[in-house]
Amino acid sequence: MAISTSSPASSFPPRLRLTSPPAPPTSLLSFPPPSTPSPPPPAHAALRAAAASDPRAAHAAAVKSGALGADARAANAVMCAYLRAGLLADAREVFDAMRDRDAASYSALISGHARLGSPAAAAAELLRRMRLDGLDPTEYTFVGLLTACARRGNPRLGAQAHALAAKSGLCASLLVGNALLGMYVKCGRFGDALRVFDGMEEGGRDVSSWNAVLAGLVELGRHEEAFELFGEMRAGGVRPDRFTLSSLLVAAAEGFSLPEGEAVHALSLKSGLEMDLSVGNALIGFYAEHGDSVDYVISVFQGMPVKDVISWTGLLNGYMEFGLVDMALDVFDRMPERNFVTYNAVLTGFCQNKEGVRVTFAKKAGLRGLGLFRRMVQDGLEISDVTVTGALNACAIAAERKVSEQVHAFVIKCGCGSSPWIDAALIDMCIKCGRYGDAHLLFEQWQHVESFHIAWSSLLLASVRDGEYEKAISTFLQIFRSSNVQFIDDFMLTAVLGVCGTLGFTELGKQLHSFAAKYGLLCVPGVGNAIISMYGKCGELEDTVSFFERMPLQDSVSWNARITAHLLQRQGEEILEVWNQMERLNIKPDSITFLLIISACSHTSSDSADKCRELFLSMSSTFGIEPAMEHYAAFVYVLGCWGHFDEAEQLIGSMPFSPGVLVWRSLLDSCSKGSNMTMRRKAMKHLLALEPQDPSSYVLTSNLFSESARWHSSENTRLEMREKGMRKIPARSWTFHDNTIHSFFARDRSHPQSKDIQAGLDVLILECMKAGYEPDTTFVLHDVEEYQKRHFLIYHSVKLATMYGLLMAGPGQTVRVVKNIRMCGDCHSFLEHASAATDKDISVRDSSGFHIFRGGKCSCKD
Ligand SMILES: [Zn+2]
Ligand SMILES: [Zn+2]
Repeated sequence: MAISTSSPASSFPPRLRLTSPPAPPTSLLSFPPPSTPSPPPPAHAALRAAAASDPRAAHAAAVKSGALGADARAANAVMCAYLRAGLLADAREVFDAMRDRDAASYSALISGHARLGSPAAAAAELLRRMRLDGLDPTEYTFVGLLTACARRGNPRLGAQAHALAAKSGLCASLLVGNALLGMYVKCGRFGDALRVFDGMEEGGRDVSSWNAVLAGLVELGRHEEAFELFGEMRAGGVRPDRFTLSSLLVAAAEGFSLPEGEAVHALSLKSGLEMDLSVGNALIGFYAEHGDSVDYVISVFQGMPVKDVISWTGLLNGYMEFGLVDMALDVFDRMPERNFVTYNAVLTGFCQNKEGVRVTFAKKAGLRGLGLFRRMVQDGLEISDVTVTGALNACAIAAERKVSEQVHAFVIKCGCGSSPWIDAALIDMCIKCGRYGDAHLLFEQWQHVESFHIAWSSLLLASVRDGEYEKAISTFLQIFRSSNVQFIDDFMLTAVLGVCGTLGFTELGKQLHSFAAKYGLLCVPGVGNAIISMYGKCGELEDTVSFFERMPLQDSVSWNARITAHLLQRQGEEILEVWNQMERLNIKPDSITFLLIISACSHTSSDSADKCRELFLSMSSTFGIEPAMEHYAAFVYVLGCWGHFDEAEQLIGSMPFSPGVLVWRSLLDSCSKGSNMTMRRKAMKHLLALEPQDPSSYVLTSNLFSESARWHSSENTRLEMREKGMRKIPARSWTFHDNTIHSFFARDRSHPQSKDIQAGLDVLILECMKAGYEPDTTFVLHDVEEYQKRHFLIYHSVKLATMYGLLMAGPGQTVRVVKNIRMCGDCHSFLEHASAATDKDISVRDSSGFHIFRGGKCSCKD
């Protein structure tokens, strides 16, 4: 799902980060120097040398010489040797056996606990014992304790250590200051970190202090501030190191700051740091996202003297970013080592590269991604949020309901469904796999109150994409009416305006217009164009034109939306006038503009086939746009409308590609205006030959046969269709009342006021019949008795929706109805009579455009 970068949800989905922000400098965890300044005796030097390579041998030697019990420094050396080797229990044993523990013994063990990942409380307990022993903590003690707090994410204990350090007067120490910075940044308490940083004296900061704050800013996504801080750092004469440069490259990659990233690259070349592993990895990450070509990534990769799994994964990701899936998979096969980040990169890459390719390929990519996920689970690799999100996205792409249920069960079983991103991906997957019920259940059970907008966004956009417009509207109204309007961004607004247009939901559309004005979103081109289009489709032509004219900048989409508004009102002349205006202003039309203008020529008051021909020919000769199938179809329709069937046939014969369904359908549709039976049969024959599977071809043919009273043929066509298991799109009409959609199918009795509607229709039909309305049963295609035919006709969906609208409309109010397909001739004639009998304006938009019934006449003049 795409969410605009300006939205509050811009960090969706969780990013795949190959280069992590730099780890705390290792110097923080170095072991304390000997506690006495005097040079150690030779025996101890030998002991220490032995300890460096073999702690157990050194331990034995120290026990044998009796030094272990008597000499704290010897015991400390053995303990440190064990800690260096990662043997915490052995170190602890030495510590516990010591008689005279000094501050260095405690500090060393606390640091060891921090480095080897013990709970911070264990380090704190050691500090407590240290003070009971009457020993004062040193700066090394605090560094060890604070590091433990940072690693285990324990800011409460960290703040206590901070207070204690302040009491001991050790906060001024650079080592302690840096450890405090690192602890607060790692624990997410950036404000406290800044206070420590500001409290440090200007000269009392070193590169590690700056790096800690820099890493914090990058972690928080405050990329511009990171670069500002870097400026201050350089102004203060502090030389950047590899941690500084890696942090800045991450900031440049994530903050889309190309020039800054290139400047950092230049700086790393100048300082010779580009040979460093972490800087090289960060450069790969930066160029994978912002390089002009994958060559930048390859060149950095090849220049690195030492490469690790992150470098290889970076190269793989680079190929994926540039759509070179096969090359990426080649890297995957060749790399010496893989970790879960590697797998995530492949998974994410598969999902990314499904766009713009054939559905079958996307499906394949999705299934391949899932295969990879299965392998990760089997191999016991770490499953992160990115992995799970990737697997869910892959599943959504594959759109396999069964598989999606399995993956869903796995996610619940492994307890991963805890992050809003994963839950959002779950909702999206359910919708794409057709599991609407489950999606709504997930939505209702949403637990992440602070990020509810993510759930809304995914549910809403998924509903829009899948044509579930009523669900989209009801989801949107929940946000709109709650106190969460800050979550409505331009992307969501554009999507909902589109739905308002499709449904003809004028009231909501108008509210969204004021909303956009209030929150300064009118200047976003997508929103402005969506408003024009919404007004046009809602039949509000005046609003369309006035909004269009007040737009500061109109692009071709705006012009097309305006022309569409006129086209829906069948205003051919007005469109040709708009076209003249475009030519005068030198506005560049696109292929959609031409499609609209050509179509307009069937709605002029007199034969405009000449004008249409001129426009059609100018497409390629003047504007360099080759006419596509749709343009031919539209031209054929115009020619047929004005009775130029010979030219229409000639045009079809001269097409550079073989005429498709669209062209024959247009010819057939244009015939229904006149009664050119020969031409109709010809068009029909071609249609059925081209697309026997298309149910609409059958329905069309069947309609045609029954109109010309060839009932038998019609019945055959329908039978054939039933056998092939085809279904036609059900006709549906709807109207709005009290901001609620009221939707009707034919013979629909599900509406709560169904009885009133039926009774009202019975009365109105009698009334209309008195005024000359005669139900035209040729529009009923079922072979039933005449009285039954009337029954079918009476309850066509557009009649039901209009009747409901008439019952609800106040005096002087226009009844507005939208129908998803073209209404039949009988409904049209009934509505003409109804507008006269009720003295009300009735506006119906069907697939051919607007019909405004007023005083017994329709605006379409059909
Ligand atoms: Zn009808
Ligand atoms: Zn009409």
